[in-house]
Amino acid sequence: MENTEKKQPLVQVKNLCKYFEISRKETLKAVDDLTFDIYKGETVSLVGESGCGKSTTGRTMIKLYNPTSGNVYYDGKDIFKYNHAEQKEFCKKVQMIFQNPYSSLNPRMTVKDIVGEGLKQHGMSTKDADAKVEQLLATVGLNKDHMSRFPHEFSGGQRQRIGIARALSVDPEFIICDEPISALDVSIQAQVINMLKELQEERGLTYLFIAHDLSVVKYISDRVVVMYLGTMVETAETDELYAHPMHPYTQALLSAIPEADPNKAKANQRIPIKGEIPSPINPKNCCRFAERCQHATERCFKEMPQMKEIAPGHKVACHLVEDK
Ligand code: SF4
Repeated sequence: MENTEKKQPLVQVKNLCKYFEISRKETLKAVDDLTFDIYKGETVSLVGESGCGKSTTGRTMIKLYNPTSGNVYYDGKDIFKYNHAEQKEFCKKVQMIFQNPYSSLNPRMTVKDIVGEGLKQHGMSTKDADAKVEQLLATVGLNKDHMSRFPHEFSGGQRQRIGIARALSVDPEFIICDEPISALDVSIQAQVINMLKELQEERGLTYLFIAHDLSVVKYISDRVVVMYLGTMVETAETDELYAHPMHPYTQALLSAIPEADPNKAKANQRIPIKGEIPSPINPKNCCRFAERCQHATERCFKEMPQMKEIAPGHKVACHLVEDK
């Protein structure tokens, strides 16, 4: 991506928090003070273990949830302060591809109705919508005969293609891809990823790609944001992050990527992470990774590390790095 394109972010997430009140005394801090930008035409990946808040972040960014605090700006405007007309425009510009192609498609609707629903909501006639659905199905490798069928008649990969066609139907600029391949067979995953990349090039799309598989993330992203238990722990351009991971959690995640070359696999030392991801309910105000980190010191259990920029665009929240 050209630097000139990087002046104004398309999406700005600023100090975003999304808490869920479980009871009077218990608060689940699913997203806690997240700040990152996404520039036009790039893919930013949000990675971390299940339950780290990645999907809640995506859902808040598309207004499926209201934030507890913080802001999300789209093209410079706060999406939570839109008037009716701006909200309608936002619904066209921003779309989501959901994780589970089995549950995200209404089983009682035909493919024609699923893909064409958004078009009709935005005022397109049935005739034009049908023609566009046919075109969209061709774009994702399906055909006209599929229009009258129901979701259960398709494989997982084909259902995800229908989900992608639905997202593309209103010609969006920005798509949040929420673990779009994790429910698919490995053999199908590459096809869907390649299709997303091709569509991005053809249509100049911008993606937020939510994933836990770091080998896929390397292939598709320009930049990566690593989350742990609701907080952001590291962000950098993809090549920089994979070459010089600084946060102990990122280092452990990267060390767990399977290596195809047996010689390299032998040389690579897997960094173990102790225990399970802790509960995000009433987390302590200290490093959230402290209980599982092999470098933790007393300070890590007392004080929350702050984000520090250690190289252009490479930021890390870790006391080890702060002290260097
Ligand atoms: Fe580990 Fe401490 Fe860094 Fe947290 S702040 S990642 S516990 S070294």
